Amino acid sequence: MLHISNLHVSVDDNSILKGLNLDVKAGEVHAIMGPNGSGKSTLANVLAGNESYIVTAGEVQFKGQDLLSLAVDERACEGLFLAFQYPTEIPGVSNIQFLKTAVNSKRKYHQLDELDTIDFLQQVKAKLAQVGMDESLIYRAVNEGFSGGEKKHNEILQLLVLEPSLAILDETDSGLDIDALKVVAEGVNSFRNQERAIIVVTHYQRLLNFIQPDFVHIMMDGKLVRTGGPELALMLEEKGYGDWVTG
Ligand code: ADP
Ligand code: MG
Ligand code: MG
Repeated sequence: MLHISNLHVSVDDNSILKGLNLDVKAGEVHAIMGPNGSGKSTLANVLAGNESYIVTAGEVQFKGQDLLSLAVDERACEGLFLAFQYPTEIPGVSNIQFLKTAVNSKRKYHQLDELDTIDFLQQVKAKLAQVGMDESLIYRAVNEGFSGGEKKHNEILQLLVLEPSLAILDETDSGLDIDALKVVAEGVNSFRNQERAIIVVTHYQRLLNFIQPDFVHIMMDGKLVRTGGPELALMLEEKGYGDWVTG
């Protein structure tokens, strides 16, 4: 699904990612943890195709293609999805319109017909219920005036509606209370299957009580310095990011 090798990334001439390697197969859930400033969001941004982030070395393959040569919209159409730490507000565009446009442009890319509006609305409503979101939120401008929790729920709604093959969730858990966290985790768990992969980026262990990862990676200073199973996250909770991580 995803193969990252020796990835080096700079922002404004500052080197942020310094030789990152990661392999993710279909069906797997990977968690990336690490202290603030270690480069987790930089990785998410570079995979999404944010042009402020310059790849200075290395390669990224997504489903056998050179991801870095694909345009942002092509990445999405090929099945890459990113939920950002700070979801963007889009004034003037209703949430339902946004979802419909996104789904239809993906369908067009794969030479499929546009979805019927009524069918689409039914599908979205079913998923709203699953995410525990109020229906009124789909008629409002995307994320505009949404609370922190509503924005995070909205990211999960997008995930369930768009059905990507690889979902990267950047700190989708930050700022959520325990009930909201469970709802988000249930959404992600229902998305999980053998054809899809998920990368969960998180600063805290608690989300991983609800989304059980197959692998946990620790990022420090622009590299994945340690990989293990869920027990690694528990060790981190107990010991912090000390010498044991690198040593
Ligand atoms: P994390 O998500 O692990 O907290 P980030 O990837 O957000 O870390 O940041 C890693 C480092 O890169 C930080 O030192 C941060 O200041 C820097 N950085 C990230 N994005 C930018 C940017 N757009 N402009 C300048 N510096 C940036
Ligand atoms: Mg951060
Ligand atoms: Mg971050």
